[in-house]
Formats: sequence, C-alpha cells, structure tokens
Amino acid sequence: MRKKLIAGNWKMYKTTSEAVALVEEIKKGAAGAPSDILVAPPATSLVAAVAAAKGSPVAVASQNMHFEKEGAFTGEVSAAMLKDVGCRYVLVGHSERRQLYGESDALVARKFMAAQSQGLLPVLCVGETLEEREGNQTLDVVSRQLEAVLAVSGVASFGTAVIAYEPVWAIGTGRTASPEQAQEVHAMIRAKVAGLDATIGGLVRILYGGSVKASSAQELFAMPDIDGGLVGGASLKADEFARICAGAG
Ligand code: PEP
Repeated sequence: MRKKLIAGNWKMYKTTSEAVALVEEIKKGAAGAPSDILVAPPATSLVAAVAAAKGSPVAVASQNMHFEKEGAFTGEVSAAMLKDVGCRYVLVGHSERRQLYGESDALVARKFMAAQSQGLLPVLCVGETLEEREGNQTLDVVSRQLEAVLAVSGVASFGTAVIAYEPVWAIGTGRTASPEQAQEVHAMIRAKVAGLDATIGGLVRILYGGSVKASSAQELFAMPDIDGGLVGGASLKADEFARICAGAG
C-alpha cells in the first residue's frame, strides 16, 4: 500500500517570516494527517523552513537545483548544498522550469541523477501542454519525458524518487484534469515503470498536480494510481492545504 504524499510548491511566494509562519500552521494540520507532507519554499527560506519543520512530519524540498556539485554557476545551488541545509526532496523538471528557462529532458535527467547522488529524493515533474493534449500526444509526451530519465538513471533509481504528473494546461489555470484523465496518464506511467521492474512500479508514488483544491482533491486521490498531489496556489493557504491533506486518507 502506497502512503499518499501531499506536496506544496510555494513557487516565488513568501518571505522568510511568512514561510516560517506557514510551516507552523501546516505543522498543526499535519499532526493527524493520513499522508506524508512536503513543502517547497523559495530558496531564501529553506534554512528557516527546515528549522521550523524540525521534529514534525513536514519535510522540506527545494524547487530547483543545479546538476553540478559546485563551480562557477552564478545564481545556482547544488544538491550537496540543499542536502547540507536539511532538504530531503527537490523538484526537477517542473513545467515552469521547462517552459520559462528552457530546461530540456536531458538537463532534467542530469538534475535527477545529481539529486540522488547526494541522497536527495527527486520529484520528477512531467506533463503535456494544451496543444499536445489536443493533438492526442499526451501519452507520447509524458512517456518521452519519463524515458529520458529512465534511460540514464535506470529503473532502480525510481525506488527513491517520486513522479508528479502535471498537465501544463492545468497549472495555475483553475482547470483541473478530471480524475479519469489523470488516472489514464498515471496508469501509463506506472505500467512503464512496472514493465521494467514490477516491484518498483508498484511502489513508486505518482502525484497529480494542476489546480488541486480541497474541493477536487478527494476525488482525484481516490483513483487507483494517484498517490497524492503536488499543489501550487492552494498550498499557500494553511487551512486549504490542511483540508487537501485530510482528504488524502
Ligand atoms: C504547481 O506549481 O506545481 C501547481 C500544480 O500549481 P497549481 O496548483 O497552482 O496549479
């Protein structure tokens, strides 16, 4: 049985004091939550968020990282640095990174491997654009994004990773994929991993992301291959996020 994971991607929101206050609120809701809980604050708040979450079930993720361990990469942080400040997870391949910063499948795969080499758990984000969905390319696009990582890091690496299916057309738009639309893609992802290793395919957590709200979470999380959510906007409000977590029983 896979335990659900609810992750909050705070994007470029929250100062450090706001982030600490939000972690404190989330901790209260996390006490009785049936799921694992993860928050991904901006880089400036990671140290404070880790300190605030200490001793609680709330884990902390970075939203991004560089694949090199160190070097002349102005403005970047490495997996080793994230591990050093107490992050447990890191998002890789979020569609905003792919679209706004031109991150390719190959770059995402390098980040995925670099994260694992430092003991961080990568959350690999995949998902199609509206144009790709309307062109019936969803399964091909998501397969390609997943295979780019599988090809270089191998299926065993998914024993210590999370996958997040996030249709680009549903992110920040208020438009959620229907449970059936999401389930179709989640089932394909799991089948692809299971085809290489049945045990890992059965264990890997596949989150859904894209305008998840308390009102839509329960129906989505009831689908057999949806193991929780990657939540953007709704994770910035402690009460809404707590209700999403509570619905993940
Ligand atoms: C996200 O940023 O990963 C996301 C799913 O955002 P939202 O929930 O706001 O659509």
